[in-house]
Amino acid sequence: MNKKKKARKPIARKITYLKFGFVITEHENHYCPRCNHVLNAGPNYQPKYCDQCGQKVSFAGIIWKEDKELGFKKRGETYEPV
Ligand SMILES: [Zn+2]
Repeated sequence: MNKKKKARKPIARKITYLKFGFVITEHENHYCPRCNHVLNAGPNYQPKYCDQCGQKVSFAGIIWKEDKELGFKKRGETYEPV
């Protein structure tokens, strides 16, 4: 039996990144439920399979959230670059 063939819902997780190097932006990423690899998915493109482990994923019912700008970087704060 191959469990990879059964589609699973990706895991949504919010991340914060710096847009243009100074705008703190909240973005929702989707991860493979099997290997936790980030799936390059958006409203216009959804992969059918995880490109790392081959897990079938289904984005049915996913509500896409727009990026949210939280503010500007202050001196001394550090954020992970994308
Ligand atoms: Zn995977």
